[in-house]
Amino acid sequence: MSQIYLDNAATTSVRPEVVNEMIKVLTNDFGNPSSTYAVGRHSKALIESARKMIAQQFGVSSSEIIFTSCGTEGNNWIIRSCVRDLGVKRIITTRMEHHCTLYAVQQMAKEYGTQIDYVKVLENSEIDYEHLEELLQDEKPTLISLMHVNNEVGTVLDLRRVANLAQKYQALFHSDTVQSIGKTELPFDEIPVDFAVASAHKFHGPKGIGFVFIRKKNILKPLIVGGEQEKGLRAGTEAPHQVVGMAKALELSYLHLNNDRNKIVSLKEYCKSRLQETFDNIAFNGCDEAFYNVLNIRLPFSPEKAAMMLFQLDMKGIAVSRGSACQSGSQKPSHVLAEFLNENELQKPSLRVSFGHENTKEEIDYFIEVLKTV
Ligand code: PLP
Repeated sequence: MSQIYLDNAATTSVRPEVVNEMIKVLTNDFGNPSSTYAVGRHSKALIESARKMIAQQFGVSSSEIIFTSCGTEGNNWIIRSCVRDLGVKRIITTRMEHHCTLYAVQQMAKEYGTQIDYVKVLENSEIDYEHLEELLQDEKPTLISLMHVNNEVGTVLDLRRVANLAQKYQALFHSDTVQSIGKTELPFDEIPVDFAVASAHKFHGPKGIGFVFIRKKNILKPLIVGGEQEKGLRAGTEAPHQVVGMAKALELSYLHLNNDRNKIVSLKEYCKSRLQETFDNIAFNGCDEAFYNVLNIRLPFSPEKAAMMLFQLDMKGIAVSRGSACQSGSQKPSHVLAEFLNENELQKPSLRVSFGHENTKEEIDYFIEVLKTV
């Protein structure tokens, strides 16, 4: 077998239709979208129709979608601007967020003295919703920043429940939806989140492009200043091929969602049961209701084996991850697993397998055969 890619939470392949759209734009539409003559106006029109298409997927208005370079930028921007420009004095979050949220929040404590309250995480990796409500009793201007789907263990936040709590206590609610946009329905016309964040490379689009959803009533100020692009909210010449590629990828993700999801759900079930019949004492980190494409496996191997495991899998052409991609080269225990596993459990090697619509049962069989030889 050649390459077996089981790390779709780190990034995804670009769909061929997306590549074709991007090539068309790169070939034909080089105009600067800010230029007022025809080639510029044409590039601008491509960007605006992509924005409209994206907004429609979530039932929101085009003016509420702003393009960024990636999920990291989106999360940083929202957190910083809420503190700097919207008067937020306290952020409620967890220690299980992606590092771009975790560090952005910590930075706000350093620079602005923002109070940080961490919601308790339960043994099954879900947040303690009652603790969240207790924290909200304190009437400070608050931003709740909680990710929708955890990138390492797939724990799913009840977005509606948190959005309703945020409304009840007049807090702002930002959700890092990088792992769920394009992979599940997100009707923002019904779920009252204030801010959401997307990154195209997680849903079979290009790298280097993302967007944020900012509900109309919240007036953020830019992180990057300069020209008037994106209504002055995100300066810098737009990249029409990236934007068009992202819109196409999102459109296809939602078009194929039911089929792809059914396929991935059954692949994950298959992988789980094959692992259980192959290894005694295998365990799965996180809760049973984890998001359908992520499986975090705790192997009954010694810690010494753990160090070499990824390398051995890589040698056999298998791409999986120990945690989030930015940490996969490090031997530090995952900050996510450390939140809810005990010392004993943390000693065991854990692997994150994340599936995509291109994976097959044969690939999973091969992965398990290789794992047996580790
Ligand atoms: N948030 C989550 C949950 C992620 O999984 C990632 C990427 O791994 C990011 C944010 C960062 O996104 P990007 O790679 O587009 O900067």
